[in-house]
Amino acid sequence: MFNIEKYNSLKKSIPSGITIIAVSKTKPFEDLQEAYEIGVRDFGENYVQELVEKHEKLPKDIHWHFIGHLQSNKVKYIAPFVHLIHGVDSEKLLIEINKQGKKINRKINCLLQIYIAKEETKFGMDEQELQHVISTSPELEFVNICGLMGMASFTDNEQIIKSEFAYLKSLLQTTNNKQQTINNEPQTPNPKLQTLSMGMSADFKIAIECGSTMIRIGSMLFGERNKT
Ligand SMILES: *Cc1c(COP(=O)(O)O)cnc(C)c1O
Repeated sequence: MFNIEKYNSLKKSIPSGITIIAVSKTKPFEDLQEAYEIGVRDFGENYVQELVEKHEKLPKDIHWHFIGHLQSNKVKYIAPFVHLIHGVDSEKLLIEINKQGKKINRKINCLLQIYIAKEETKFGMDEQELQHVISTSPELEFVNICGLMGMASFTDNEQIIKSEFAYLKSLLQTTNNKQQTINNEPQTPNPKLQTLSMGMSADFKIAIECGSTMIRIGSMLFGERNKT
């Protein structure tokens, strides 16, 4: 079940420029349909096959966000319709996305996932890989790198979460500044990296304080997922 009241109060409580992505992984079509009916158009999914099935069944004006760990050999299934791939965590994956985009002549929106937590189970690039990928990305004509994504440590310590999100925000700024210096562009108003995808049910408030532009909210809206 989709919690309409929670969604409406969440929407009211955050600045209007922030996109709420309803993370619907493992949830049945009916739950997404309920959300769709009250106007939700951004959904986040973690599994390729599930995303493909939901895309086929549900209305075509939905923006589908892929937020999971994407394997290179599965990019082709989502390339034709995905709105934004959040978890691009290697140059290899970015090159594959470019290749699939080229095949269908579609420029695919991507966020680079940065490793900001202190947990080994999480994916992402470090600062050096980020700078490398940014510097070589102009050769990749069929990807559009719109920003960065990160997941904070799973902890109750708000200071740790805050410092991780603040670090991601600072990386976005320094990367934009560097690019403008290299290209001899005036500072702002058109930074390349605009989107900062950070914040989940437990930590979105801190993420917004730290400059998030996209929050990925699952359990708060759809209820707890069955642990698999
Ligand atoms: C599942 C998931 C979310 C949503 O998490 P909740 O805690 O349920 O809000 C957000 N981002 C990613 C990458 C996820 O895998």
